[in-house]
Amino acid sequence: MEDCLFCKILNKEIESNIVFESDNVLIIKDISPKAPVHLLALPKEHISSILEIDKLDSRLIKELMETISKVALKLGLDEEGFRVVINTGSGAGQSVNHLHFHILGKRKFNWPPG
Ligand code: AMP
Ligand code: ZN
Repeated sequence: MEDCLFCKILNKEIESNIVFESDNVLIIKDISPKAPVHLLALPKEHISSILEIDKLDSRLIKELMETISKVALKLGLDEEGFRVVINTGSGAGQSVNHLHFHILGKRKFNWPPG
């Protein structure tokens, strides 16, 4: 989608630090990490937020979740626990309107989140 930062990253128009790539999913390092490990899991298909999840094929949603799980295990994030976050809407801190899952690990997390 035009003018979408993450679509530009997916199209390699903008450089990113890629951790994992498949036909349907890209996982990159967040440019402004909020934890020692801070990754972003992106579906390659553009949807603006989880509110449009019905536009994604259920197999793709499963693949996304499985990919997040595999990468978290590979990086040992399960040892101390980790957090997967979807910010939705400006009030919750969403700044890029392309669905993405924050994967945060290797530090202590508070509950409830701020
Ligand atoms: P959100 O604020 O939940 O929409 O998350 C967007 C995330 O994208 C933020 O954590 C930003 O630090 C991150 N971000 C912005 N630009 C880039 C970029 N060029 N490469 C990697 N991450 C980025
Ligand atoms: Zn996009």
